[in-house]
Formats: sequence, structure tokens, C-alpha cells
Amino acid sequence: MSDAQDLLLDMIAALPDPVFVLTESGRYVALLGGHDRQYYHDGSHLVDFTLNDVLPAEKADWFLQEIRTTIHQNRLRIVEYSLAGRDVSGLPTDTGPRGDLWFEGRVQPLANPINGERAVVWVASNITERHDLQGQLQTLSETDELTGVYNRRKLLAELEQNFAKFQRYHTPLALLIFDIDYFKLINDQHGHLFGDQVLRDLAQQCQSQLREPDTLGRFGGEEFALVLPNTELKQALQLAERLRLDCEQMRFASTTNNAAITISIGLSVATKTDRDITDLLRHTDDALYRAKHAGRNCVKYRTPDTGSPPSMDL
Ligand code: GH3
Ligand code: MG
Ligand code: MG
Repeated sequence: MSDAQDLLLDMIAALPDPVFVLTESGRYVALLGGHDRQYYHDGSHLVDFTLNDVLPAEKADWFLQEIRTTIHQNRLRIVEYSLAGRDVSGLPTDTGPRGDLWFEGRVQPLANPINGERAVVWVASNITERHDLQGQLQTLSETDELTGVYNRRKLLAELEQNFAKFQRYHTPLALLIFDIDYFKLINDQHGHLFGDQVLRDLAQQCQSQLREPDTLGRFGGEEFALVLPNTELKQALQLAERLRLDCEQMRFASTTNNAAITISIGLSVATKTDRDITDLLRHTDDALYRAKHAGRNCVKYRTPDTGSPPSMDL
């Protein structure tokens, strides 16, 4: 063999990421590189099998679709997918990375057919670490550090999304903002750390009461907000009243005695006159302001545009 051929073979064997050649019908024609078992399993047995032979039907269909789209568009495409060693039948999993893995696939059509079939080169890079880190960063950017519920940024994003649905499909949407009454006194009497614990307990208590689509977030300080998609005023009022009573009954153990809190709640449902979430927020805030001025520990709501309040059998 010439020096040039030796070099080529050496290079191919040392390719850090596995390079698959896959045909349009999903047949593995070749597999090169990807020998570091810290990042990749040994997939050498796959050659001559098809995607459907070795993968669950849903995964196999996804790969086939990506291969066909790449061939059809005749360009490099970059895709992201998860695949665990256990998903691939016959893969030796005693060596190789464990658990769910994430890959970036770089998929390029081959110029010439193989045995009459069009084919692609699929380079699979293990990006699990990067993917997990991105997930953690996203969670951090959406979470309030003290209470573990969503932060203001995420809450406003949720509100924005649901408001868009309300405008497009008239899906009802309710917003509730609540604020702890005289919280400064809690801090003054029991200390700031105790105040922090009250905020955490209150957030967890509210979170545990919510339906799946509802979003609770800390708006700032001792103020929280709840976005309630698909919720009419009457339902939202019932929820608000239940929340108010729950808070009233909670006890927070301090070193000196048991502390109790109350909350005031402002509530508003989105109406046609709201141009954007700022309008909805303003109306909800107004209602909260009225709840404070009415003596606190109560729920006030924006009067519906119809002028007639909902029947109140709370
Ligand atoms: P009101 O009934 O009018 O809402 O009275 P308030 O005392 O709750 O309202 P005010 O806005 O005067 O005080 C809010 C207090 O919340 C003051 C601030 O120190 C406290 N606070 C805000 N964020 C935190 C926090 O993260 N931890 C603790 N412990 N206290 C906080
Ligand atoms: Mg307060
Ligand atoms: Mg406040």
C-alpha cells in the first residue's frame, strides 16, 4: 500500500465521531471511526442491518425521514436527537456511555448511489454534556432562586404566550397577583431568614394546589402571580378564594412561636379591550391595590366588560 493510502486508512480509523453511511431505505452500509468508548458504543455489528431491524419503530421512522429529507434537499442538514445504548438492539452496553445520550447528526447526501440506492453520510457527535448544560442553564434562567418557582421573566413569557392564544382563539385567560399582607412585620418580628422560609413554604403550598397548565411565579419580593389558561372569571375567583383561605390556615414555625400570614389577591380575566399583557397586568394590579385598600386578606377582581358581575357562590 502506498504511504498516502496508509495515511487515509489511519485517518479514517481515527475519526473521533462515528461516521455512518445509510441508504434511503435505511440500510447501514458502513461505519467508520468513533472508537473512544467514553463517548460512543461499538456499533460495528450494525452494518448490513436496517434501521428498522435495530431501532424502535418510532426512532427508525424519524431517522428514515431525516435521510429522505436530506437526499431530497440535497444539502447538509444538522439534526439533534436522543438515543440511548439500550435503544439499539445488539449494541454491547457493558462498555460505552450510560443512560440517555444526545447527538448532533451532520447529514450530507452522497454524490453516487450505492447498489442503486441513494445514500447519506451521517456523522453523529455525542453532545450529551452540552445538551444537559443547556437544560440546566434554561432552568436557572427561568427559576426564582429562593422559592424554586418560576421567576418574573418566565412568568411574563407564559403570560405573553397565553395572551396570544386568547387573542387568536378567544381561549379564556385569567391572571392573579397576590401579595403577602404586612410582610415587613414578619421580617421585623422573626428575622429575614424566617421571612425567606415563609416565602418558600408559601410558594410550595401554592404550587401543590395547581392544575397542570397553571403557572405560578414569583413576581418580585413577596408578590407572586398565577397565569391560569382556559379559566373563566368564576372559576378563577373560586381558586383565588381557596388560595386565600389556604394561606390563612398555614402555620410557619419560628423559634419563638407559630407565625401566620394572610394574602391579598387581585384578579383579572383578559378582555377584548386589552391590547397587550401590559393592559392585563395593569388591571390585575389595580384589583390587588383595591384588595389592600379594602383591608387586606381578600380577593378583588376587575369588573367584566359586560358590566354584570359573575354570580358569587364561592
Ligand atoms: P402590604 O400589606 O401593604 O403589602 O405590606 P408589606 O409590609 O407586605 O409591604 P411592603 O412592600 O411595605 O414590604 C414588603 C416587604 O417584603 C419588605 C421586604 O423587606 C420584604 N421582602 C421582599 N423580598 C424579600 C425576600 O426575598 N425575603 C424576605 N425575608 N423579605 C423580603
Ligand atoms: Mg406585602
Ligand atoms: Mg409587595
